[in-house]
Amino acid sequence: MFYFNISLLLRINSATANRAATHMKKLPLHTLILLALLAGLIWGLISISTGISPQITTHYIKPFGTIFVNLLKLIAIPLILASLITGVASLSDVKKLSRIGGKTIGIYILTTVVAIAIGLVCVNIIRPGEKLTGEMRQELMSSFNTNIEKNATTADDFKKSGPLQFLVDMVPSNLITACSDNRLMLQVVFFSVLFGVALIGVAQDKRLPVVNFFSGVNEVILRMIDFIMKIAPIGVFALISGLIVEVAGDNPSRAINLLTALLWYSMTVLLGLLLHIFLVYLSLLRFFTKIKPGDFFKGIRPVQLLAFSTSSSSATLPVTMECTEKNLGVSEEISSFVLPLGATINMDGTSLYQGVAAVFIAQALNMDLTFADQLMIVLTATLASIGAAGVPGAGMVMLVIVLEAIHVPIEGIALIVAVDRILDMCRTVVNVTGDAVVACMISKSEDRLNLSGQVSS
Ligand code: ASP
Repeated sequence: MFYFNISLLLRINSATANRAATHMKKLPLHTLILLALLAGLIWGLISISTGISPQITTHYIKPFGTIFVNLLKLIAIPLILASLITGVASLSDVKKLSRIGGKTIGIYILTTVVAIAIGLVCVNIIRPGEKLTGEMRQELMSSFNTNIEKNATTADDFKKSGPLQFLVDMVPSNLITACSDNRLMLQVVFFSVLFGVALIGVAQDKRLPVVNFFSGVNEVILRMIDFIMKIAPIGVFALISGLIVEVAGDNPSRAINLLTALLWYSMTVLLGLLLHIFLVYLSLLRFFTKIKPGDFFKGIRPVQLLAFSTSSSSATLPVTMECTEKNLGVSEEISSFVLPLGATINMDGTSLYQGVAAVFIAQALNMDLTFADQLMIVLTATLASIGAAGVPGAGMVMLVIVLEAIHVPIEGIALIVAVDRILDMCRTVVNVTGDAVVACMISKSEDRLNLSGQVSS
């Protein structure tokens, strides 16, 4: 009888566990990450308040967070090579559409720079990193300080070496060396752009196999990002619980301090994104097209919802094209050129976020950024957002370039990784909205905006 009960109990339990597992599998990734974030928080707080398991967290949980961050760093160089070479080489269309291409790229770069500037203004006014106590900032600095002495020397060298040194540093003398060090990513960007431009000029029979090769590699890398994002919940759980245990020691109020700073940081990014949509996009629409804000938002609502739930401009692209054509009256000729290009190189939300994140990490690590550093952020975040693929998490991978350029330890990404997915969802909405705005502007400037043909959604 006892035996029977136990086996029945086990069966019931395993059925419940199976049901729970199936249910978990059905949950979308962002929900899983949110749950992992909460679980990591709770685990971290329990660890430090009971004092039972800080060692377990540090030695057996935190390493998975480090593995997750390493994976992100691992794919950064191949990602830049493949996505930039494919992206630039596809500009061979620009030859045919040189006027439209010039206008499109010009507006894309301009809106990206404005987005970074908005982000920098917000983060310099709100100063979310300084919501951490001085003591905590010192501690974070020393926990991430593996490279700090080296960085300080590099920074000194940098100051001594004259204002154009950054241009010299951008040009690699050896590709293998450039690819072997994540700190030299800008050199890889330079090589990829040069390679892509040269590829455009090569005879078609030689060019096509090369382009196909790199676009194949690009697909593989995107697949790898998919895999890595699948373990993101584990990575986030490990990172957040490890971080809390590490920085809070035996004092939970310090963990709360860290969370407060993260909340301020997230609010700063969100404020910047909202300002960019309402100040920049609505003004552009108003001055350059006749589309009313209400009609615009109604027309691209499905696009924004899809971008929010997939965190991927690329995945949203087919819907972006359909909605801009059917609901906003953009001609197919324009949308089929402007939007695919935008999904790869125009990421205003991503660049704004990168600016805020870089300054936040510097503030949290108690590092002062000069005006020249902030200009460097504008330059590198523009390049990094152009180089970022339109897939979940790509913006955070490319953030490494920005941090390296201003000599902030890239380990600082651990501070923001936990809230990244949620911010990714929001910045992707801005990315696709920006693409749609520019498509309307270009269509209008070519007299191809069919306002009367709009189909209300
Ligand atoms: N998820 C973003 C996009 O697809 C890129 C990023 O910022 O990570 O547009």
